[in-house]
Amino acid sequence: MDKKRFLENYSKRQLNIMNTDLVIKGILNERYAYAGPDIVHIDLTNHCNNNCIGCWCRSPLLKDREMPDDEKQLSLPYDLVKNLLDDIKVLNGTRQIKLVGGGEPFMHPHIMDIISDIKKLNIEVDINTNFTLIDEKIARDLVKLQVDILTVSIWAGTEKAYVDTHPNKDGAAFLKIRDILALISRLKKEENVAKPWIKIYNVISNVNYYDVKNMIEFALEVRADDIQFVLLDPVIGRTECLLINSDERRFLYRLFSELEKNYDYAKSLYIDPDGKGSLTITAFSDFIRRLSHAKSKDGIYDEDKTLKIPCYVGWLFIRAMATGDVVPCCKGHRMPMGNLYRQSFSDIWNSEQYRLFRYNAKNLKKTHPYFSEIGNSASKNMGCYNCDNLWQNEPMHKIITSANKDILDTGISAKNRLSVFFNKLVRFFCF
Ligand code: SF4
Ligand code: SF4
Repeated sequence: MDKKRFLENYSKRQLNIMNTDLVIKGILNERYAYAGPDIVHIDLTNHCNNNCIGCWCRSPLLKDREMPDDEKQLSLPYDLVKNLLDDIKVLNGTRQIKLVGGGEPFMHPHIMDIISDIKKLNIEVDINTNFTLIDEKIARDLVKLQVDILTVSIWAGTEKAYVDTHPNKDGAAFLKIRDILALISRLKKEENVAKPWIKIYNVISNVNYYDVKNMIEFALEVRADDIQFVLLDPVIGRTECLLINSDERRFLYRLFSELEKNYDYAKSLYIDPDGKGSLTITAFSDFIRRLSHAKSKDGIYDEDKTLKIPCYVGWLFIRAMATGDVVPCCKGHRMPMGNLYRQSFSDIWNSEQYRLFRYNAKNLKKTHPYFSEIGNSASKNMGCYNCDNLWQNEPMHKIITSANKDILDTGISAKNRLSVFFNKLVRFFCF
């Protein structure tokens, strides 16, 4: 793909499933998946050199609820990752693999081999990293390998906010991140390539909310392509003290209304009014929606949305954790569908347990006890109050309802509608 088309695609990132027909066929079946997941998250390791203040595993605020020490040492062995990649290729349909954590992907001893293995499969690779371990050599290798996306988790636009959100780091670490990001942008320019697409990722809490404008300045300064803001998803009983209060929410709301004047929704592009450049802001309207949610002050952002639509994630996504557990969504770490140390991924993907998850996620209300195992908190009845896969579920729901509407709009009688619907089903299942 040439540079211009790549940039256009990425600045309008949408659900872009490879095998839409096979996915719909699976959704109509309600249990079986006829293609592999569109997006695969792999937690390569639980090792991490940071202790970010809002981290679900390592924040010092978690105290006795930190990830246990033995779990912190876990990494997926290289051979097991290679088998997983082979299975993903055979199942067909995976567009993107995201290396994420549990921990910091660059702490895995085979990270560069794994990136290159994924690139050979012709599957997009996105690496979610704290970026502290990237030196000049690794930066050059990432450009050479044409990594598709680097999601760089910084949570700050200034040294002060960086140190406040990363208690075991100093200002020098922030400046090093700045310099290496600028180097990657320079290398891209010199070599006239669009990749890696650099996305700066900022989790917003009451520690750094005031720094949002500086975060944008920082992204423009290092010539990043993209920036995303998400509100902190707290661990109940431990990190709620980081939630922003009403005044801080009002401050952010006013700031985003200001930014909106220079934001082109059609292109998801923010154009700096002082001519410093432009930048994709991913999920701009989602941030405002979450900010305005009635229960936002309690760290609940998506309850109304997840209650309204079915969940299709069982056909679109998996997360393989450093324990070997395969879980069905970003928030599914307490609901394993199988384990890669005991089963192959192909066996897990259409196992009895996975088929039950698909059926339940599509048909049951998220207040059903089945979903109490989703999310961070064992004390909540409904774990789906925050859903990191809404960006997949919402567009998928539109596709499914418009497929149904096609049939209802033909103006034929109810009996014939049923027969057209049945024929359509047969077509899906036979071809
Ligand atoms: S870099 Fe990621 S895994 Fe490590 S402490 Fe921060 S949020 Fe947690
Ligand atoms: S959080 Fe709930 S609604 Fe969202 S993907 Fe997971 S199971 Fe589905």
